Amino acid sequence: MNHISKLPDIETTIFTVMENLSKKHKAINLSQGFPNFKSDQKLIDLVSKAMNSGYNQYAPMLGVRELREAIAEKFDKLYQTSYNPKNEIVVTAGATQAIFTIISAFISPKDEVILFKPAYDCYEPAIELNGGKVIPIQLKYPDYQVDWDEVKKVFSEKTKMIVVNTPQNPCGTVFSKEDMQQLETLTRNTNCIVLSDEVYEHMVFDGFTHQSACLFPDLKERTFITASFGKTFHNTGWKMGYCCGPKELMKEFIKVHQFNVYCVNHPIQIALAEYLKEASVYKELDSFYEKKRDLFLAAITNSNFSFKPSKATYFQLLNYTAISTEKDVDFAKRLVTEFGVASIPLSVFNTNRLDEKVLRFCFAKKEETLLKAAEILNTL
Ligand code: PMP
Ligand code: GLN
Repeated sequence: MNHISKLPDIETTIFTVMENLSKKHKAINLSQGFPNFKSDQKLIDLVSKAMNSGYNQYAPMLGVRELREAIAEKFDKLYQTSYNPKNEIVVTAGATQAIFTIISAFISPKDEVILFKPAYDCYEPAIELNGGKVIPIQLKYPDYQVDWDEVKKVFSEKTKMIVVNTPQNPCGTVFSKEDMQQLETLTRNTNCIVLSDEVYEHMVFDGFTHQSACLFPDLKERTFITASFGKTFHNTGWKMGYCCGPKELMKEFIKVHQFNVYCVNHPIQIALAEYLKEASVYKELDSFYEKKRDLFLAAITNSNFSFKPSKATYFQLLNYTAISTEKDVDFAKRLVTEFGVASIPLSVFNTNRLDEKVLRFCFAKKEETLLKAAEILNTL
């Protein structure tokens, strides 16, 4: 059968490639970002309870009311800002569905979307599928700072959307207050929508604070924020997240959401609504992951990798220039097959596969896993 691919240049995502290699070689898997420890038993019990109590049919389209209220309360408590649970918050099948829905709802052929690279890999295909044009801004190792003058140069009436991701995957950087103010100034009085992917909002270290787009009033009125319960509560396999934004924009989001998925997992929503009644659930996460980062970095401090400690997320970048001149994809593959540690090569997230000899390692792992991996990395 003849058909024209809508995504001719897209290959299997690096996460699947490295996961499969890792399994095949029984490697220590620090590639795809997920914890190898259990989610809170209390939350798991609440899901079972919800299933046994009969919450097994379709949920309301926008999400269980109590859960949307709990999300609104979180914004109120953490950021002193409000989203109306009736029409400004939608529960989604992970942040991924929220991102896809936002892009599908607003991007038409030839619309330009500014993207900072390296970028998490789900934005670009969604833009392309909708006929949009990616305008990449390549950031550079090791600090990945944004030069806002460069952004200003490519920003025009054609710019329909800017995607920002703070804290940033894969770099582990955060946007400062000044960065967010620059974004706010740049987009003020324009028709540009901002997609602010904030799935790592609760994992920020070293005294930095998360600068959510909702903290900046002019930015908030043009921004969708996406979030992931999977990231926050150590259950990425549940694929639960949410999206919030101003009601005029949300109206368009909902038009797509209702036919894209209609609604998402009912018993998990009931459980999360109950679980979120304890406000403390978010509190420990920063220090929990900061300790893991510190443990991992202390264990490889004498290795031949060079690094700057990650400021946020659960990813650490390591530069291997002192070890090999191989391309990062080749080196990452050899690291799994010969040495038994799986990571993610950064070039796949860069413009024109820019290769800066950097690999990403996920430290959302048990202490013993991180120490075992470090022992191997120290031999290189
Ligand atoms: N955005 C970023 C930056 C991510 O790292 C991820 C991966 N978890 C997602 C979105 C998708 O989140 P989810 O698993 O909730 O779909
Ligand atoms: N967000 C996860 C990561 O960056 C992976 C999610 C996925 O496999 N698509 O590792």
